Amino acid sequence: TTQTSTRAINSLAGEADALLISLGVKRSRYTGGKLIARSPITGEITGHVNEIGAADAQAAIDKAHAAFLEWRLVPAPKRGELVRLLGEELRANKQALGRLVSIEAGKIASEGLGEVQEMIDICDFAVGLSRQLYGLTIATERSDHRMMESWHPLGVTGIISAFNFPVAVWSWNAALALICGNSIVWKPSEKTPLTALATEALFDRALARFKAEGGKAPDALSTVLFGGREIGEILVDHAKVPLVSATGSTAMGRIVGPRLAKRFARAILELGGNNAAIVAPTADLDLTLRGVAFAAMGTAGQRCTTLRRLFVHESVYDTFVPRLKRAYESVTIGDPLKDGTLVGPLIDAAAFASMQKALSEARAAGAKVFGGERVFADGADEAYYVRPALVEISEQTGPVVHETFAPILYVIKYRDFNAVLDLHNAVPQGLSSSIFTNDLREAEAFLSARGSDCGIANVNIGPSGAEIGGAFGGEKETGGGRESGSDAWKAYMRRATNTINFGRTLPLAQGVKFDV
Ligand code: NAD
Repeated sequence: TTQTSTRAINSLAGEADALLISLGVKRSRYTGGKLIARSPITGEITGHVNEIGAADAQAAIDKAHAAFLEWRLVPAPKRGELVRLLGEELRANKQALGRLVSIEAGKIASEGLGEVQEMIDICDFAVGLSRQLYGLTIATERSDHRMMESWHPLGVTGIISAFNFPVAVWSWNAALALICGNSIVWKPSEKTPLTALATEALFDRALARFKAEGGKAPDALSTVLFGGREIGEILVDHAKVPLVSATGSTAMGRIVGPRLAKRFARAILELGGNNAAIVAPTADLDLTLRGVAFAAMGTAGQRCTTLRRLFVHESVYDTFVPRLKRAYESVTIGDPLKDGTLVGPLIDAAAFASMQKALSEARAAGAKVFGGERVFADGADEAYYVRPALVEISEQTGPVVHETFAPILYVIKYRDFNAVLDLHNAVPQGLSSSIFTNDLREAEAFLSARGSDCGIANVNIGPSGAEIGGAFGGEKETGGGRESGSDAWKAYMRRATNTINFGRTLPLAQGVKFDV
């Protein structure tokens, strides 16, 4: 209904400065540098961050390797203590960091805070995990032998992150890598350097407290490399980095994946999604409406798990889709820092252009486009607010099979359940998915081997957002990586199989005889 207008230009740089100072960042870190920080809320410049040069980046990674050689010797539960302190710093500074996330990424206030809560949660998870890095003991075929597996620290963990979760993605990787005994080197998105500076400062505080408690930790345990993709490429190509966790577009993963493979380094690739939901005949339509509205319009469509394709059964289409349109008409768009706003800005002009391109392709394919236009263009030329678009289209074709990182929901009518399962899986991406149904058979089939082919499959909740307790990631062009909860930690360690002979003879495996 009522739309809030955007705030005055140049109101946010001062606030960002105050937040950064309160979070312990020195002003010299974000003044005078070449990397320009902007707030998508007004488009204004909020900082000039110093970029690192190629030679300095190489040297910093070498130092991180030296730090790894020391850190791997610290017992895992003691490493957990450092992450516990990081969690404490994040708790104490949740308001300030959450607000800075909103200013820099344009998220509504509760989502900015939610991102920091996610960082706190993964720290808690990792602290517990630091006492649970279990390996198996394995039955051996030889008498007087024992066989087991041990999990050891791996090395420098490279982290490359995207703008849309500017700090949570770092924490998912950092908290696990640190308790696993690795040092970390982070190349944050060039679009969100201020939140990276703030996170670096909070980590430094935790490290100082850890040392004050008598903990042993090398200075170069955590390094942040500010710069663009060329700095990311240095991290990807560095021989002393055995693992890179890279979050961003599929285009980025297509470059990073083969480069890592070339030197046999491990990759955790967290790339684009094209997430879908099925609204079945028995769906609870009130619940479905809320689930779909949040998943499709929340974060202005800029989550990797944003709902982008909606398959609605023909028996409920004419009831559900008009209700959904009303939700699209009435959603409050505007300044994400104001109470009541649900949809904030797109990150930049390029995001707006790609949204408009996808919408014109949809129109050309015969779709009915509802919304999608720019709002509040006056007075904030560099801020890009849009009405989320709902696009009724008869076939899954053209822009529907690509990820456009903007709030566009393609709505397709379906008749047959098995056919819609096929359609659901017939896109190159495989991140997140949902079914809204009260039919047990449909729900179980959707979660089964013949159901959704995604890394995340939900029933009666939308595809967007995840808890840190589960492993997070997706299949196909989403990259196949898993991070965060469950046993995702194993990707950050190397596994050794150990056999110990405590007898006086030397039986060989498989009965082989070799007597010299
Ligand atoms: P992007 O691909 O433009 O950039 C992501 C990061 O990769 C940045 O830090 C960038 O500097 C770096 N990068 C780009 N090219 C590189 C290269 N050749 N070598 C090394 N580093 C390189 O993505 P973006 O616009 O910041 O983020 C949006 C995209 O991220 C969307 O596609 C979204 O779906 C995806 N994403 C995925 C997940 C997930 O977990 N699957 C989470 C968040 C975002």
